[in-house]
Amino acid sequence: AVQEGELQRRKMHNLIQELRGNVRVYARVRPFLPSDQVDASAQHCINVSAHDDSLAILKKDGSSDGNVLESHGFTFDRCFPPSAGQEVIFAEVSEFVQSALDGYNVCLFSYGQTGSGKTHTMQGFGSGPMKGIIPRAMEQVGRYKKMLEAQGWVYEMEVSFIEIYQEQIRDLLRSLATPNGGAGEESTSTTHDIKKDGKGNMFVTDVAMILLDPNDPQAVQRIMDVAGRHRSVGATSMNERSSRSHSVFTLHMRASNKERRSQLSGKLNLCDLAGSERLSRSNATGERLKETQAINKSLSALTDVFVAIANKQAHVPYRNSKLTYLLQQCLSGDGKTLMMINLSPTEQSYFESLCTLRFASQVNKCELGQARRNLHMVGQDGSSFASAGGPGATTSTL
Ligand code: ADP
Ligand code: MG
Repeated sequence: AVQEGELQRRKMHNLIQELRGNVRVYARVRPFLPSDQVDASAQHCINVSAHDDSLAILKKDGSSDGNVLESHGFTFDRCFPPSAGQEVIFAEVSEFVQSALDGYNVCLFSYGQTGSGKTHTMQGFGSGPMKGIIPRAMEQVGRYKKMLEAQGWVYEMEVSFIEIYQEQIRDLLRSLATPNGGAGEESTSTTHDIKKDGKGNMFVTDVAMILLDPNDPQAVQRIMDVAGRHRSVGATSMNERSSRSHSVFTLHMRASNKERRSQLSGKLNLCDLAGSERLSRSNATGERLKETQAINKSLSALTDVFVAIANKQAHVPYRNSKLTYLLQQCLSGDGKTLMMINLSPTEQSYFESLCTLRFASQVNKCELGQARRNLHMVGQDGSSFASAGGPGATTSTL
């Protein structure tokens, strides 16, 4: 009975989500950190009003009265103040994780300047209260898998983890794919492309797909550790160890139910974007400069996609960057997207935060059509045809 109740709740969730549209924008302001070097009397430059999900960014004149020179207000689907911890964030994200398990293509992005809390949000640290969205999502997946298995569904989960660095794809899990369990390094000549399969699904060629037991927390941790070791980390003047690349963690899920003759597939992409800061602030030269330009180019390709969708343009330029090409199903009417905007509370970040917020308002204007579930009935003859039923479906025909 508990499980049936849970399924009913899921169906309601999906219904509400469909009514609210498939692009969601959340904003999160991080607390002050010791490295911000602000004194005890410092005020946040962004005021969040959580009860109506709005925020205001303020530019003050620096006087003791704190006269406001300029202010801008924004409203998003959710606005989280600095006090909102990892569990509060995840509670508002878990419905997206669930959608992937219900057979949708889902993408969560973390966007913001270096040091604003993107990696903290996505990955967090440790296995305690500071863990981020990726480990929490895997726990949720594990619980759901158990529940559905009890109802005759067979779930298969694999993960891939890539990095896009200067428009080149690197496989962060390559060492796990070797038969001797990690000693071998991928030959440097392996290149990865993005292709479309016969069903219109995008995939990365020759990428390691690691079979995951989501009920084994150590398996998830091992994957994160291996990926962390492979990530490109560079030094900029803004943050000593800032990531200069996008990373995309993908859970590929397939499920089938013999009795109901149904098959289901879904994808959850958890994408930690490179820092969105403008060139002038990072004092970049040489290789760093080239990097920053490549990063800015691919982030502007992402912006271009959202602008085209918001303006309902017939042509959306997905092909202009690896990131948008790979994630185009989530960024089109077929899927669901959550843009998590990360903001630093410091006054020095006023301009970067304003740019981030303007990007977010652009995304907020996007409306995608009804998302498409990848659920098929399998006929006696093995042929498959689309159906609206299955676990968590809004309209069950089964
Ligand atoms: P980014 O990935 O955007 O460059 P990070 O996630 O690495 O930024 O965050 C920069 C620093 O701030 C890290 O030391 C991180 O632990 C800390 N931090 C970020 N967000 C929070 C938060 N909400 N609460 C506590 N510390 C945070
Ligand atoms: Mg980071």
